Amino acid sequence: MGLEYQLNPAAQRKQTVDFLKAGKYRVTPRGYYGPFGGAYIPEMLYPNVKELQDHYEAILEDADFGAEFHSLLRDYVGRPSPLYHARRLSEKYGTQIYLKREDLNHTGAHKINNTIGQILLARRLGKTRIIAETGAGQHGVATATVCALMGMPCVVYMGEIDMQRQAPNVARMRMLGAEVRPALSGSRTLKDATNEAIRDWINNPVDTHYIIGSVVGPHPYPDMVTRFQAIISEEMRLQLKEKTGNELPTHVLACVGGGSNAAGAFYHFLDEEAVKLIAVEAAGEGIASGHTAATTATGKPGILHGSRTLLMQTPDGQIMEADSISAGLDYPGIGPIHAQLFTSGRAQYLNATDDEALQAAFELTRLEGIIPALESAHALAKLKDISFKPTDVVVVCLSGRGDKDMETYIRQLNTDIDPA
Ligand SMILES: *Cc1c(COP(=O)(O)O)cnc(C)c1O
Repeated sequence: MGLEYQLNPAAQRKQTVDFLKAGKYRVTPRGYYGPFGGAYIPEMLYPNVKELQDHYEAILEDADFGAEFHSLLRDYVGRPSPLYHARRLSEKYGTQIYLKREDLNHTGAHKINNTIGQILLARRLGKTRIIAETGAGQHGVATATVCALMGMPCVVYMGEIDMQRQAPNVARMRMLGAEVRPALSGSRTLKDATNEAIRDWINNPVDTHYIIGSVVGPHPYPDMVTRFQAIISEEMRLQLKEKTGNELPTHVLACVGGGSNAAGAFYHFLDEEAVKLIAVEAAGEGIASGHTAATTATGKPGILHGSRTLLMQTPDGQIMEADSISAGLDYPGIGPIHAQLFTSGRAQYLNATDDEALQAAFELTRLEGIIPALESAHALAKLKDISFKPTDVVVVCLSGRGDKDMETYIRQLNTDIDPA
């Protein structure tokens, strides 16, 4: 990747001042979360990224934009998503557990909050064509969905291997009218699809917007995506007030792949230091196994996909392959906001193994009649490891539903040991 374009001493001093002004855990105007973030991009991408940097805040703060965003969230996505008091789960863990039901959103997860926001932003910028990259296909489906909604052409890049592994999502994207282009180079997975999408964007800087699916990438993507997903914690505060008389919970738990559902679930509690924020990464087969996606447990600072953050890497700095039973958490890094929340100690980072997540998915299903996404099950899996008081108010972000994971669940059902 190329040069970072804001590193002269004056800019650094300004950055420090901006950081203090922005509040401890929010982005600076130049895109930093402490030492993390920024926009480390090849020069050829500069005009595209600069255009977003120059305009995104004004657009997000525009009243008409907000009205359109919120009306689609209500009538198309089905928001507000319920905050459900899980009675039997609460009894089991001796505390008060609430589930933020992102699984009930249109398309079955939180990702649609972001794609709606970004396609509206793209239209404001006069863009007429959308590109995206996808690994498991969930972000590709959420992008193809909003492109159908807006009547905009959509190209989704996907590794050839991932296209084979995630055939139902490829079919969904095609049915929605998107063109799914296979990435044929390298390991033919997410990283190669990302390279293809960047190449496309460089070649089509005027008419095309690139929708990134998590709080990763060069500034302003991490902040932009966080702010679209912040609807999750905005609603939580109102719903908690209504249900418990207090808008603050004692704990918020969320799973972290790139970190967008967690960033959204934490956002409106960042400055409320009494609220414990707990992020759960995928340990895969265990953090010492070499088959893991637990970045905070095993990673070091480095640069990937345009930002400085924590990354799983070899001693000589090569990015390692992530490994998790859940495709949505299979990412070798975390967004820069999480690198900062981890390093500063504001949020606690735990991890759950494949087996723990499977157990937790079956437990929720049997106790509450809700089949969660395997990603979300990682957050649920840590309820057993935290000591709660009976009066604590614990909110778990149920980022998505489990329909897409039925093949894995069926395999588990067919093993001899009853998982529940
Ligand atoms: C994609 C996905 C995730 C992981 O992405 P984040 O950006 O970390 O939120 C989590 N849960 C579900 C259901 C997903 O589809």
